[in-house]
Amino acid sequence: MKKILSVLLSAIMVCSFCACSNFQSDSTADTATSAQTTTAQSVKDNADKVSTETDVLEWVDYAEYNLDEDAPVKNIILMIGDGMGENIIKASEVVKGDKLVMSGLKNKTHVTTYSQSVSDGYAEFTDSAASATAISTGNKTYNGCIGVDPDGNKLETICEFAQSLGLKTGLVDRHYVCHATPAGMAAHNTSRENYPQILREMINSNINVMFGGGAKYYKNSKKVQSAVDEKGYKYITDEKQLLELTADDDKVLGMFAYDNMDKADMWPSLTTMTSKAIEMLDSDNGFFLMVEGSNIDVFESEEDMDSTLEQMQAFDHSVDYVLKWAQEHPGTLVIVTADHETGGVKLPDNPKPEDINNSCFTSDGEHTNTNVLLMAGGAQSAGICEKELIDNTDIAKYMRKVLNDSHKN
Ligand SMILES: [Zn+2]
Repeated sequence: MKKILSVLLSAIMVCSFCACSNFQSDSTADTATSAQTTTAQSVKDNADKVSTETDVLEWVDYAEYNLDEDAPVKNIILMIGDGMGENIIKASEVVKGDKLVMSGLKNKTHVTTYSQSVSDGYAEFTDSAASATAISTGNKTYNGCIGVDPDGNKLETICEFAQSLGLKTGLVDRHYVCHATPAGMAAHNTSRENYPQILREMINSNINVMFGGGAKYYKNSKKVQSAVDEKGYKYITDEKQLLELTADDDKVLGMFAYDNMDKADMWPSLTTMTSKAIEMLDSDNGFFLMVEGSNIDVFESEEDMDSTLEQMQAFDHSVDYVLKWAQEHPGTLVIVTADHETGGVKLPDNPKPEDINNSCFTSDGEHTNTNVLLMAGGAQSAGICEKELIDNTDIAKYMRKVLNDSHKN
């Protein structure tokens, strides 16, 4: 319905613009023509906006999925809300007026997130790089490090481990493809800021699917472009190309924005990217896929509650898609968690929707060391939640254990 409305609205706008432009005097005709082209183009972009079912952005209805927990693990889908502390989940539910879909996952535990960085004798709050490294490799490291220990030694990433067992691998995020969280799943670097270098390593490591933003690191680097060619990647930049991919496309690098895909309605949506990644990765030997709601953290850092909630909406939409898929594909372990809390989100007792605003942020936009939630469903999902509190390195260890149990023989 929304789609029809937006198309109708766009049609009306195009017609009214054409009507106006008929009255342009000759002297302004050229300008008018170019303005008309620009406006018509942006109206067209707008009309094309919601192009697939999975691009719709609204709170997805609460649903509980019935996932088989006993099957051995064939696939792992690890979903990370960057900066998604427990209170931003609660805040989202207050505004939505119902539970998020992720809250319906049967198995839950809490996770400690501290990194190896120490300042004045105290553990520093983790950054996304150290946390991604912990979740991926099972080792603590310094903030800023990607897949290396505090001495700079390479650690085996979860993608390397999954590949060694014959699984396909995929990374979907909304920031740069080579931003901290996806990078931590696949690369090794003593600095998360070495984006072109990290991107090249990710390409050279044969990850089957990489979707996100950061096309500037492709466009401005001949070395990255040659790596893409040499490794036989298909490089795509828009939703049309994304939707045309088939399971025959073995390796794809999709960079859908020059920079960060920061707005939730920059298409393709997180859910469209996720659905396409799953379609491409689904295979006999199974797959590991990491999906990140990257910009929850970005807007929490800016203490912008409305935009943070939009990001939560988009992320939960993707969780819903993944759980629906996992229900039809037994053997899939789905883990939904966060790398750390951001914003120090505080809520009053019995909060009402009007209480959820920018004043809930209490940490000047910084990360905190609050434990985060881990919610799991599907194959072998109870095991990771046996204890009430685990460490982020335990996530890496558990994923290795269950994949070893099922794939090594
Ligand atoms: Zn983070």
